[in-house]
Amino acid sequence: MTELNQQTTYDDNNIFAKMLDGDIPYHKVYEDDKTLAFMDIMPQAEGHVLVIPKQKAVDLADLEPEYAAAVLMTSKKVMQAQRQVFEREGVIQMQLNGSQAGQTVFHYHVHLIPSSIHELGGHAVTQADNNDLADIAQKLAAVIDA
Ligand code: AMP
Repeated sequence: MTELNQQTTYDDNNIFAKMLDGDIPYHKVYEDDKTLAFMDIMPQAEGHVLVIPKQKAVDLADLEPEYAAAVLMTSKKVMQAQRQVFEREGVIQMQLNGSQAGQTVFHYHVHLIPSSIHELGGHAVTQADNNDLADIAQKLAAVIDA
């Protein structure tokens, strides 16, 4: 079998686990009993959001059906809010499995990026302004809550 260069064991100290534990700050867009959505701090386009399950899953292989369904439904809410706030139809849904694919945080997450595949910025390259992220998070949250 080919040796895979990737993490397969869930690390309780990964950055998204720390967010779920309330140990590090983030710009929340939406939360329910099974999922959390927040702003990506190094967005590949304005309005880049991440959706995570409240389950210890490294990648898609670990995701339990009820959390898979919950992540998808939260992603749908976020995508619809992005369409409204950014007045555009095009939103990329992306998800990386394993370091070979470019995954850098080993807690399963869906990227929702209001962009085009032809215009997408670099992956986790440039940190966004904190105030801008807070402002966008608030706008998206307001639309979801409406
Ligand atoms: P991936 O490479 O698919 O695992 O994506 C990880 C994403 O997490 C990247 O887009 C990063 O910009 C983002 N990221 C890393 N640290 C944080 C953080 N503290 N808050 C929000 N997003 C983060």
